[in-house]
Amino acid sequence: MDLNLSDEDLAFRDEVRAFLDENLSDDILEGARLTPAVRSPVSAARRWAGILAEKGWLCHPWPAEYGGPGWSVVQRYIYEMESAMAGTPSINNMGIRMVGPVVMKFGTEAQKATYLPSILKDEFAWCQGYSEPGSGSDLASLQTRAVPDGDDYIVNGSKIWTTGAHTADKIFCLVRTSTEGKPQEGISFLLFDMKSPGITIKRILTFAGDHELNQVFFDDVRVPKANRIGEENQGWTVAKYLLEFERGGIAYTPPVKAGLRKLSAISREAPGGDGRKLIEDSAFKAQLTALEMGIMAAEITEKRVMSALSQGQNPGSASSIFKLRGSELLQEMLELTMKALGNYAAPYQPEAYVPGNNVQPVAPEYGLVATSKYYNQRAATIYAGSSEVQRSIIAKHVLGL
Ligand SMILES: Cc1cc2nc3c(=O)[nH]c(=O)nc-3n(C[C@H](O)[C@H](O)[C@H](O)COP(=O)(O)OP(=O)(O)OC[C@H]3O[C@@H](n4cnc5c(N)ncnc54)[C@H](O)[C@@H]3O)c2cc1C
Repeated sequence: MDLNLSDEDLAFRDEVRAFLDENLSDDILEGARLTPAVRSPVSAARRWAGILAEKGWLCHPWPAEYGGPGWSVVQRYIYEMESAMAGTPSINNMGIRMVGPVVMKFGTEAQKATYLPSILKDEFAWCQGYSEPGSGSDLASLQTRAVPDGDDYIVNGSKIWTTGAHTADKIFCLVRTSTEGKPQEGISFLLFDMKSPGITIKRILTFAGDHELNQVFFDDVRVPKANRIGEENQGWTVAKYLLEFERGGIAYTPPVKAGLRKLSAISREAPGGDGRKLIEDSAFKAQLTALEMGIMAAEITEKRVMSALSQGQNPGSASSIFKLRGSELLQEMLELTMKALGNYAAPYQPEAYVPGNNVQPVAPEYGLVATSKYYNQRAATIYAGSSEVQRSIIAKHVLGL
């Protein structure tokens, strides 16, 4: 990849900027700004997703044959960078990044016709039913059973840490359809409706106080066999393919770069002692510079690997490199932001995070959700596969050790 933008790329960047300028209304931006957790409030996120869908940019990583805009990897990167810098809301992209690629690769023509157009229009919010109380890193040990009954399966069991299950319309779920052979050989991949009779959702509050996570219980939930993606007992192949997109289907550095820009602005405003600004403190400056260098190195690696991908190809094991460094850098950036805030990191004012509120925040505007974000993203090195597990994948499949 030529890291310098061509004239065509620069024109594309201007087009993206003009679109963002025109469509990011104050209330959408406010929802994005007041996001204490991973995702923005549903109101702002769904509105933004709707605007992107209308423009045809919602499923921007998709190939043109399935309704994507047909962008090059450079254009996708430009789009993600410009969006992060403009402060767009963080939307529920499980349909776009996970269900879509899996249906394209393993779905029947009928399944493609059912699911892909609805994802392009953001008709449904999706959630991911992989982890179980006894199965996280060791996912193949999962126990949720799906027993055939005529044209249906009857599903019993429980999923945990299910992000957004309480606001989701649909779930993609790994279930055990056989106990014969290796654990990986008896798993199937099902898509079903969260309104199906027999589903109960119990909320789990994070230590940041947010309700993003849930435990989901299935009691005799009837799921049509037609909703199975891939062959029965071949779900492990589908699941692994999906994980590559979960870990590597997006660029990690744009949001961290946007956070770094904000952090630099804070350090020019926040006091650093002796009447100076924080940016003049040499110890802080050294930490900021180290972070910036880490982000630059990650960005170059990310662009290099992205350049090897052509449209529609899967990211492969290299996605673990993005996941590992992206989540670590995000945490470093949020930790340094806490340091920059000093005492202003302490006030806990969740009522001030609600869009449209008239609460007077204790911290300056720039510090409002920083602490919640810091706590919330302690999980970044756990969700989508822990850092220890990513290191093992890199060692084995990237370095060949
Ligand atoms: C905020 C958040 C959101 C999540 N959202 C979802 C979701 O929407 N859907 C979903 O299905 N799941 C979700 N998860 C679950 C997530 O995928 C698991 O938490 C993760 O895979 C780790 O599994 P575990 O929690 O069971 O920990 P364990 O697997 O029990 O791991 C515990 C510790 O042991 C280490 N460890 C385990 N195995 C190995 C090994 N082989 N080598 C070295 N170290 C190892 C781990 O790194 C970790 O430090 C979410 C988790 C979090 C925290």
